[in-house]
Amino acid sequence: MLKKCAHLLSSLLISFVYFFSLAANSTEKMWPGSEYSPSIPTFKDVLGYDVGERITNYGDMLRYFEALERSAPKQIKLFEYGRTWEGRKLIYAAIGNRDVIANLDGFADKMQKLSDPRITDKSTAKALIAQLPSSVWLGYGVHGNEISSTDAAMMTAYHLLAAPNEATNRKILKNTLVFIDPLQNPDGRTRFTSRYYATVGMQHSDDRLSAEHNEPWPSGRSNHYLFDMNRDWLAITQPETAGRIRAMNHYRPLVVIDLHEMGGDSSYYFSPAAQPFNPHMTKNQIDNMTTIGKNHGKHFDRYGFDYFTREVFDAFYPGYGDSWPVFYGASASTYEVSSSRGELFKKRTGETLTYKNTVQRHFVASISTAEGVADNHNKLLNDYYNYQTSAIKAGKNSKERVYILPNKRNIAGNHRLATLMAQHGVEVKQANSDFKQCGKSYQAGAYFIDTAQPKGRFVRTTFTQQVDMSSAFVKEQERRRARKLDDEIYDVTGWSLPLMFDVDIDSCSKAVKVANHLIESNDKLIGKVINPNATVAYLIPWGDMAAGRFLTAALQQNITLKSADKAFTLEDNQKFTAGTLIIEKRSNDDDLATKIIEIAKNTGAQVQGVNSSWVTQGPSFGSSNTVTMSAPKIAMAWDNPVSSLSAGNTRFVIERQFNYPVTAIRTQTLKSADLSNYQVLILPSGDYKEILGVSGADNIKQWVKRGGVLITLGRATQFAAEHDIALLDVKRERAFQAQEDDKSKATKAVKEVEGESMVDGQLFSTKDELVSASENTKEKPDFVAGVLANIEVDQEHWLTAGVHKSLTAIAYGSDIYTPIKLASGKNLAWFTDAENVLASGYLWAENKKQLAYKPYLIHQPMGRGMVIAFTQEPTTRAYLDGLNVMLMNTIFRAAAHARPLK
Ligand SMILES: [Zn+2]
Repeated sequence: MLKKCAHLLSSLLISFVYFFSLAANSTEKMWPGSEYSPSIPTFKDVLGYDVGERITNYGDMLRYFEALERSAPKQIKLFEYGRTWEGRKLIYAAIGNRDVIANLDGFADKMQKLSDPRITDKSTAKALIAQLPSSVWLGYGVHGNEISSTDAAMMTAYHLLAAPNEATNRKILKNTLVFIDPLQNPDGRTRFTSRYYATVGMQHSDDRLSAEHNEPWPSGRSNHYLFDMNRDWLAITQPETAGRIRAMNHYRPLVVIDLHEMGGDSSYYFSPAAQPFNPHMTKNQIDNMTTIGKNHGKHFDRYGFDYFTREVFDAFYPGYGDSWPVFYGASASTYEVSSSRGELFKKRTGETLTYKNTVQRHFVASISTAEGVADNHNKLLNDYYNYQTSAIKAGKNSKERVYILPNKRNIAGNHRLATLMAQHGVEVKQANSDFKQCGKSYQAGAYFIDTAQPKGRFVRTTFTQQVDMSSAFVKEQERRRARKLDDEIYDVTGWSLPLMFDVDIDSCSKAVKVANHLIESNDKLIGKVINPNATVAYLIPWGDMAAGRFLTAALQQNITLKSADKAFTLEDNQKFTAGTLIIEKRSNDDDLATKIIEIAKNTGAQVQGVNSSWVTQGPSFGSSNTVTMSAPKIAMAWDNPVSSLSAGNTRFVIERQFNYPVTAIRTQTLKSADLSNYQVLILPSGDYKEILGVSGADNIKQWVKRGGVLITLGRATQFAAEHDIALLDVKRERAFQAQEDDKSKATKAVKEVEGESMVDGQLFSTKDELVSASENTKEKPDFVAGVLANIEVDQEHWLTAGVHKSLTAIAYGSDIYTPIKLASGKNLAWFTDAENVLASGYLWAENKKQLAYKPYLIHQPMGRGMVIAFTQEPTTRAYLDGLNVMLMNTIFRAAAHARPLK
């Protein structure tokens, strides 16, 4: 309490210095010198409290924006851009002068023209620039527990509408259109606000130990499916991301800001960003953010706010809210304010940070951004147009000018990638007839993308196999690593979409000339049933997600079906892959054909009806090398100690990409629960040792022995492999150390004898010996921030039936495992040789060597059931679509192969 009073006193003092002449209510203190019109409703008018006094919940935020729109419909317009998984409306507001607001479609239309120099020449562009306002998109609260930005969004809207004559506002409203997306993650914020206020007692605690400052699992950061939506801009898996991308592609705001919060002991962060920058960004884009950052510096100095720039938060991965917009030509940045994560927070310095403090900083940065955009109106519009021109030129000059997707294998994956790129606003074309390009022949149906288009750089950065960090940055990281310092790599360094989606691509330096049509983002994959009146069976070749979704639909409609463990050939010489689904007429109802046609239509699967079951090679339909599939009940661990990202991603992939339900069970419950109702249990990544322990592991082990399928992902595999848990017969490896290493000589000399507190003396003659003597002798392999790695897949095992022989997975962290011995099980997928293991990104040389030929997917039979271990996570960000068939096999084919007593 004392601290709070001291704070009030100091802010009174500041207000005395700066604006003693005003009636200093707290709204006015937000931007001193403003006079607010009473016709625009304040926080207090609508919500009953002043700005920053409470953490506004989602419903009240909506109510406030609706009140603003009612009071000034000519200056602000609200739009719904989607619904969250939990059904909440997502909105943005457009604020500007009457002329612009009256004709937003006209504005969007002009921006579209300015975006394409192929239809808009320089003089037309000049005329457009003379008419267009500049524009800024302010995105708030993508991480739902980073709370202050939403109240800052409300304050920003109020301030612009209620004080149009304040000098800065006048500048902004004259030539700039301000978009405000006040809450990008309503589901996450609701999780935070409801639990925070449910936990508060007689007074708000500023103690970081207090319950209200420590969210239970899962925190409000993520959305309903526990995604970090600030990583979702590449694969657009979540409806919130899809809606934002649609809106941004429509208006093309020139500057985009994503507002966040960081730890409470910090200050404020804005642009310029940290190294490394994505090399496909232009200097102008980076410079514009520095200009705007400088403007903040001016205001922050005036208010006495601490800040920093450049040291963290890089701009390398193109799937952040502040990097995706750069690839249509915007300048973009992240802002971070130290969080009070509640109404009060005591910093380590002893100062009390109030919620209002944090709201004000984001609000000031918001207005300062809009001011920077207004001040640079002409430059930003010109830069935007020139960006498009240079993007087309860069595409024309590139050796990888055109990417071609032959579309002969993994048809569903090709379709997903082609429509995803269309959703990004990329022109994707599909050939209407066969053609030749760069000496190769392609069939009608091949997709191609010419990077000589405005979004060409986005295509480059997401399709090319390798995007390099600057060599100076890499050199510095290697230096730090050599000195045993942590590296400064912030996020994954590889994200090539064709690799991640298991889609073959070629590139060519020349434009493709063939009759074609443009792909739309909502184009459906067309399913097909050949010979729908088949008399014997329907066959669905296995190997892509259309067949995968066919399987889950068929299982849920109680269709009786089998799957072949091996490839087979029919008498007419038609070949079918291992894993092919076999649906026999004799074991199903009379309306089978109707159901098959309907499912094929909905899933895009290719179905072949056959009138004979005569097989000339491989297993016949009645062979013991076919298995009857049944609809497994799937359980997964949920709640601490599971990584919420891994839990959410995994549940999402199964529920929304496989279209199959999952029961989430709290980890604590798994310890003693009777699991006999379930056929499959998935442990997402997490450190289970403490919560499950030996007795919990034993409960799971007994269930596996009775016929259960246990699947462990990422760090859950560590748990399974612990020696006293013994669910999996492999071990984790320490970092490889060469035997006769000079460096270790010095350390070898000193033998520590147990029970003695002194050791024999040693002599150092170089600093290296000091360094080496202070090293731990038993270290883990160096940590990897996340790269794409090549894996090879066993082609002869039923568990990997139909899975492509080579795939791309993520390698993250420092987990490397010994192979399982044949006596215990089989290694069914493994990392490739050291030379080729890195598919994309930056991987330490030692890790490459040690990762080579180490297991990725392990199968260990146990009693009537089995344990299946992924040594890395196959569901990261739900953007490794290429691993989905393998993951489906581990669930559905494994359940079919388990032998519980029925
Ligand atoms: Zn954040």
